[in-house]
Amino acid sequence: MPSNSLLFFVTKLIKFEGFKATNYWFITENEILIELANKTNRSTCPYCHKSTDKIHQSHQSHQYRVRDIPLSSFDVFLFVNRRQFRCKNCRQVFSEELSFVKKRRTYTKKLAQKVIEEVLATDVANAGKRNRMSSAEIETILKELEEDLLKEKPQGLKRLGIDEITHLKGGKNYAAVLVDLDKRKPIALLEKRNKEAIAEYLQSLGSEKLNEVRDVSAKLIEMYQIKESIRDIFESQITGDKALWDIAEWIKEAYKYFPRSCQTIKRWIDEILAYFDNRTTPSTVEGINQKIKLIKRRGYGLKNFDNFRRIVLLNWHFC
Ligand SMILES: [Zn+2]
Repeated sequence: MPSNSLLFFVTKLIKFEGFKATNYWFITENEILIELANKTNRSTCPYCHKSTDKIHQSHQSHQYRVRDIPLSSFDVFLFVNRRQFRCKNCRQVFSEELSFVKKRRTYTKKLAQKVIEEVLATDVANAGKRNRMSSAEIETILKELEEDLLKEKPQGLKRLGIDEITHLKGGKNYAAVLVDLDKRKPIALLEKRNKEAIAEYLQSLGSEKLNEVRDVSAKLIEMYQIKESIRDIFESQITGDKALWDIAEWIKEAYKYFPRSCQTIKRWIDEILAYFDNRTTPSTVEGINQKIKLIKRRGYGLKNFDNFRRIVLLNWHFC
């Protein structure tokens, strides 16, 4: 058993408010396991919010390991005990909240914060190296951080904007970004940009949230669809004659939302129709555009859409 002064020192080193180190072991030559104990014998009941000190005797063990920030060349694991209480007031049994680790997570909040800061400043590989973790472990942390963020539904959303970004993998894939126009931050990234995907997300917010933004979003979805349909015309392999017909139809629908764009199109109609008849490689400009974005994003070392979406969202919340 380590001496009290050593345990006091370890407690100081790991710095978890309200917890003290009660023991530690070197489990391998570069891994240290620190046992923590809560300094208080009280916890607040999540059902009735009264404080209680009655620890529920359970045969089940609630001790488990969580990973923390490395110390010097050591990987640090904490041996924590999430105690169970029985509320003296409402008689419910509950397990206590631990301030430094979220339920069902295998790493401390401090480690997650450090990892996200490092990923955003450098990339996944670097953050992994600094914390002696694999890229897969880092990506798990990012994924779970995103899940936590998405569980918090956007608060006070009044005006919803829809924008788009090029899909990271290139090709003709785009993602829709839903933006809180007042707070100027993205609230969701959708892999598809069609009406169904957007509607599905809006429904996931629940009717209460949806009512707050319904008027805006209905109009926005329509505008978005119209904006998308002109792109579809330009991307389809049609002749100038067919394009003239399609564009005329489009203008009928689009005029009330995009009068200036419609006037521009009318003014340039001959040049636009020539584009349909003469184009050689329709996706050239698109391809260059995508490549620039791809290079810009590549800094993070993230390759698939899930990770890309994650990093965009996390950027707004942690930077
Ligand atoms: Zn209670």
